[in-house]
Amino acid sequence: MGNSFQVQDRFADGAQYIGGRLRSGTSGHSHEVVDPATGDTVYTYEAAGTADVDAAVEAAREAFPGWSGATPAERSEAMNRFAAVLAEQADDFAYAESLQCGKPLKLSTEFDVPGTVDNTSFFAGAARHLEGKSAAEYDGDHTSYVRREAIGVIGSIAPWNYPLQMAAWKVLPAIAAGNTIVLKPAEITPLTSLMFAQAATEAGIPDGVINIVTGVGKEAGEHLVGHPDVVMTSFTGSTAVGKRVAEIATSTVKRLHLELGGKAPFVVFDDADLEAAVNGAVAGSLINTGQDCTAATRAYVQRPLHDAFVQGVAALMETVRLGDPFDPKTDLGPLISHAQRDRVAGFVERARAYATVVTGGEAPGGELAEGAYYRPTLIAGAAQDSEIVQAEIFGPVLIVLPFDTDDEGIALANDTPYGLAASAWTRDLYRANRATREIKAGCVWINDHIPIISEMPHGGYKASGFGKDMSSYSFEEYTQVKHVMYDNTAVARKDWHRTIFGDR
Ligand code: NAD
Repeated sequence: MGNSFQVQDRFADGAQYIGGRLRSGTSGHSHEVVDPATGDTVYTYEAAGTADVDAAVEAAREAFPGWSGATPAERSEAMNRFAAVLAEQADDFAYAESLQCGKPLKLSTEFDVPGTVDNTSFFAGAARHLEGKSAAEYDGDHTSYVRREAIGVIGSIAPWNYPLQMAAWKVLPAIAAGNTIVLKPAEITPLTSLMFAQAATEAGIPDGVINIVTGVGKEAGEHLVGHPDVVMTSFTGSTAVGKRVAEIATSTVKRLHLELGGKAPFVVFDDADLEAAVNGAVAGSLINTGQDCTAATRAYVQRPLHDAFVQGVAALMETVRLGDPFDPKTDLGPLISHAQRDRVAGFVERARAYATVVTGGEAPGGELAEGAYYRPTLIAGAAQDSEIVQAEIFGPVLIVLPFDTDDEGIALANDTPYGLAASAWTRDLYRANRATREIKAGCVWINDHIPIISEMPHGGYKASGFGKDMSSYSFEEYTQVKHVMYDNTAVARKDWHRTIFGDR
């Protein structure tokens, strides 16, 4: 590997990045980063304890006056330099992301890393575009205007599926708006979050603006959410943990932003381009080995196309090449861990009692046996209310169900607790328009499934949470709005004082 580096050496000082330098955690227990393609441990570190979280929050608190007091242009310039440093180090980022997640190098090289560089450039620009209402004399006697201000220290928690992009989605809008941040990455994938914070320092973003605490959810995570000096919690992860985070954040009166689980429907109407829908279903369900909160998970196919769709998807899934993430020919890497692979396999085994596994449904043997691999899996014939249709599996598993009328297709698409993303496949303008209106999800694609862009919001409806990542919507969420009102009359006794003084 031309771009590889020794992780243990690179992060020898520890996996906590506080006040602009790496240091070791003090929790008293160590944690491992494991390469899921081989099962080998690539890094052992001391996890963050509550004292490390306190130190990180303190560093962020100290950095806040300077960073929030910088001009938008100064913050924007620093973030443009940050984007440039990330771009220079793209190969190292892609290598580390593939190593800790098992994702094919082509995915981290073509998606995770350039997406992060672009996001950084976007928020560098956004830093100079905070918008609000115009100043006006709404009652004639006063001039009102709105100030949008930074909030303070943000506490963010991220999952393991796209560690670099999740760190970027949390950190960038927050710091663009003048806040400082403490981010807790998933304890199994801290490497690229640490590198991200180091790159910010190299770019001249002041010490303490971005801090990383690497520890387990119950200890470092809960302490960060409950910390009295943290004014906002921004969480991406499962709905179950999101509920716990919400309880703690609510009890300490924090602003809250929750990006939770998904179970995206993929609705194919009978006039759709079948080949496009088959390609879209395979790519959209297998992206990142299915560990994508917006991945296509439930394909509803109108009856006339159903059987051909099943055949087409199964045949195409069988051509997808599992293998070493660093081999350019590999299409699909392992799952994030052996535990996650076993969890996915458990869903499929239970589904055999009531549904048909059309293809996949097993871990490969041979030279992939040591890794957390699982074959692309297509399941047909499950009932709408069954576990495999309702629960978030987070693996390379697509379920296909038929429907008859358009009403039924849309109703089935909406029939889970989640509402993060969805797609509809049709060449009929009216059907497409109806799907975009009636499907309850934060994003609806027409004739595609997965693409995201920095300019547009990402976030859920229903149990998928609330709040938006990316875009100017997310930037605004990391600000608070203040109404400023000036008296214009310059008189000592105002008209409205009659309510107190009467005619006196
Ligand atoms: P998870 O909920 O298990 O963990 C997420 C993070 O929360 C980790 O950093 C973990 O250490 C931390 N955590 C765990 N328990 C905690 C607690 N009690 N208090 C505070 N923090 C705690 O999720 P995961 O398994 O890492 O990631 C997969 C999940 O993330 C899926 O449900 C997926 O849909 C979701 N996800 C959502 C989005 C989105 O934008 N909506 C994006 C990516 C992933």
